[in-house]
Amino acid sequence: MRRVIEVTRTVIVKSTPLPRKLFRVFVELEGMYRNIVEQLVLYAVKNGITSFTRLKALKYRELRSLYPQLLSHYVYTVCQDVSTRVKSFLRLKRRGLAKSDYPAVNRVSIWLDDHLWRVRSLTSIEIATHRGWVTIELELHKQYWRYLNSSWRLASEAKVKLDKRNRQLIIYLTFKKSVEAYKPRGFTVADINENHVVVLVDDKVYLFETGFRDVVLGYYYRRKRIQERYDKLYGVNCRVKRRIFRKLKERRKKSDLKWKLANIIVRVAKEKQYAIVLEKLGMNPAKEMISRVKDDQLRHRIYQASFKGVQKAIEEKAREYGVPVIYVNPRNTSKICPIHNAKIIYSNGSRVGRCSEGGELWHRDIVACYNLLLRAHLGDGSVAPSLGGFTLDGSSIPLGSTATHDPTGIWESLWMRWKSLDETLKNLK
Ligand SMILES: [Zn+2]
Repeated sequence: MRRVIEVTRTVIVKSTPLPRKLFRVFVELEGMYRNIVEQLVLYAVKNGITSFTRLKALKYRELRSLYPQLLSHYVYTVCQDVSTRVKSFLRLKRRGLAKSDYPAVNRVSIWLDDHLWRVRSLTSIEIATHRGWVTIELELHKQYWRYLNSSWRLASEAKVKLDKRNRQLIIYLTFKKSVEAYKPRGFTVADINENHVVVLVDDKVYLFETGFRDVVLGYYYRRKRIQERYDKLYGVNCRVKRRIFRKLKERRKKSDLKWKLANIIVRVAKEKQYAIVLEKLGMNPAKEMISRVKDDQLRHRIYQASFKGVQKAIEEKAREYGVPVIYVNPRNTSKICPIHNAKIIYSNGSRVGRCSEGGELWHRDIVACYNLLLRAHLGDGSVAPSLGGFTLDGSSIPLGSTATHDPTGIWESLWMRWKSLDETLKNLK
């Protein structure tokens, strides 16, 4: 069975600075667009309408007579815009996270469909306004050319935002690509932890340091220290403190790390035509109890940065390369010996435990990976094809009988510099 996945990417390009008169046209257009959004959001929330077609059916005539100068397709796109705003607002409200009765309309971008814009040349587009078609020259950059020169195709939907200070349009283009997922010949396991990710490829286990837990905690404690000091000195609402916080935030580690790591894992899987095995998140109570952190909010933040963040990056990269992802239940994966199906006993916080039946030693991270692999082979994943014939004796797990081996640890400073696992390993001395 062929499985084709559609992948979408947004690429942002700016227009060249527009002449004052031309920019005014877009200010007017945005003004009308914003008015309609504000009206429709109130109407839709009040009447509980989330469907775009329903909203359009109810409001089309009225809007056309209110804004006769506006092209009818703007009414379509506004309705789509509003429908997504209302949907996400109602979702928040259901979870008790909405701060008011109606969603606030702060930032507006003008949604365009295939009747409202078109490509004019490689370096310019045309946009339909209430004053007719207008040509917009683009300031191009490397990323745009990369998408244009590859198998990505430009989708018909686009969004436009106004940069009023520089009189430029910020254009959000959407590129799409269909990727065919292959039938996996084997599995690569990625076991994500608070501070590191363990990857099992064939018979090798690698440990990638990420330090996400430490980054979140470090930021938290620094912030707290500053807060205490300045609150005592200048009161709760002081300017100096806010400025320091802003600086602190900027210096926070970029999310670069997780993308690099996702890239390495996905490339290995693609090369070998393997599927990637991940844990079904939210199913392992041990991971929810992030070690030694009592504060709920802080624990949530660590969970988001470490587990969710890395997993999402792997999923997105995998989709782009057509690498299948398989989810397995992670329950007790580090507690049970994959050979004897018996409990592994860890004494006082050690990462190495002893199998209660065979007496062999296991490293916690290695056990977890092999158990995830085993579950993937047994078809315990949501899309796992059962390959069969996978028997587990000591010999099929090279580390099984001599499992005291530690995984190959790779420090962040090293793997951050290399694109593939091969390159990284060559430099691991
Ligand atoms: Zn055992």
